[in-house]
Amino acid sequence: MTAVAIVAPVHPDFASLALAPSLLTVVGELGYTRPTPIQAASIPALLAGEDLIGRSKTGSGKTAAFALPILHGLDVGARSIQALVVCPTRELCAQVARELRTLGRRHAGLTVVEVVGGQPIRRQLDALLRGVHVVVGTPGRLLDHLGRGSLDTRSIRTVVLDEADRMFDMGFGPDVERILGALPRSRQTAMFSATFPPAVEALCHEHLRDAVRVAIDENETEPGEAVPEIRQGRLETERGDRFHALCWVLARHPHESALIFCNFKTTVAELERSLTDAGFSAGRLDGDLDQFHRDQVLARFRNGSVRLLVATDVAGRGLDVEGLDLVVNYELPAQPDVYVHRIGRTGRAGQPGVAVSLTTGGQEERLAAIEALTGVPIEPLRRTEENDPGLRRLIASTARGSAMQTVLISGGRKDKVRAGDILGALTGEAGGLDGADVGRIEVQDRLSYVAVSSRVARRAVDRLNRGRIKGKRFRATLVGVSR
Ligand code: ADP
Ligand code: MG
Repeated sequence: MTAVAIVAPVHPDFASLALAPSLLTVVGELGYTRPTPIQAASIPALLAGEDLIGRSKTGSGKTAAFALPILHGLDVGARSIQALVVCPTRELCAQVARELRTLGRRHAGLTVVEVVGGQPIRRQLDALLRGVHVVVGTPGRLLDHLGRGSLDTRSIRTVVLDEADRMFDMGFGPDVERILGALPRSRQTAMFSATFPPAVEALCHEHLRDAVRVAIDENETEPGEAVPEIRQGRLETERGDRFHALCWVLARHPHESALIFCNFKTTVAELERSLTDAGFSAGRLDGDLDQFHRDQVLARFRNGSVRLLVATDVAGRGLDVEGLDLVVNYELPAQPDVYVHRIGRTGRAGQPGVAVSLTTGGQEERLAAIEALTGVPIEPLRRTEENDPGLRRLIASTARGSAMQTVLISGGRKDKVRAGDILGALTGEAGGLDGADVGRIEVQDRLSYVAVSSRVARRAVDRLNRGRIKGKRFRATLVGVSR
């Protein structure tokens, strides 16, 4: 990068960032004690109306770096689109929208809409017609709406391109250009990325004005900040021995949740089956799943009721899950950049991550290409008679079900259901469950997922089906327990 890097000034707390008091309250409620370096450097510039180019590693808090300034300047009283966030994938859009809603939970009446492919356009048209404040979308579907005239860009004051590098990797460069061309010239533009390849630089040059550049490098980060390390290892194995090798890796690297990548969807299905049969808590994500089941398995993985998620690259694209402590490449990908994307999913939010790849003979060139790209050697792991007690024992010591299960509730945001309402229905006098038995609650448009302790899962379903939420009856079912 030719850019001058602006090193983040050290900010003791969020209060010194001159954000609206309601945002400071929410940030406190979320337990964010200090802004991460990218936040400390970006928020003042964005509040001042500057265009901005922000680069920092995955997991360093880029979403809040742009979400907080967007929310700060928002006029909820005006039902017009004031900010647009463009992300490469549907899952990333969902994640950004979630964060905007979470951080904006004290902005009464705030409407954030996701405009993404793979969903009926009708619903999006209705939402846009009713008036929304922030749109988060993928390039293709945004262009679709621009073409139909259903996305009124006139009042957009800020546009953010998130994960710009991946947008280009995925071939959305021209679409992004067209979207920027359709926006008011007076707008503010911010671009966030983990890397700045030449194509992204060119786009910045073309569409940003005197942009402030913020580049946070690892060594400029203080200890304890949200910039994780990834420890990379590899284990030589033979074709028939892969499952055994995987179990060895799982046993050696304690994990709450792990993502396991395969190169082909047939392998994904087989592996998920083998893991489940062995007693692991596992789910799969491949291109054959319909959207509903895909969302469902992701919700379960996020809330800890599925601990191992087996995925292909296509299905895992844009998958954004927090707090992954282990990524396993069950098969080494052919492309080095695919490897980097895969392992980038570990070590979020300050937690160090581990990535282990199973390799077979003859893959030295692939490994060398990967090491050349990352500039970091991958440490060979040794499996010996001393440290490998055999497949059966490995499974016995490692495979365990999940302590949590997921309940699906047939009501969501559109039904005026909020997380607090669900918590209320489960605990207290009506529900009788202990708050400690209730895990993550995820409220979506039309349905909600709530994690509850396996011990009380049936009781939770029963209570929900008999009781009411916000005075209405909804259906509750346990998901993913058929086997
Ligand atoms: P990036 O976009 O840079 O990959 P994210 O915005 O997804 O990173 O943030 C990663 C995680 O860090 C999220 O779980 C987010 O809630 C958390 N986070 C963001 N800002 C802070 C903060 N100031 N303090 C603690 N955690 C934070
Ligand atoms: Mg991000």
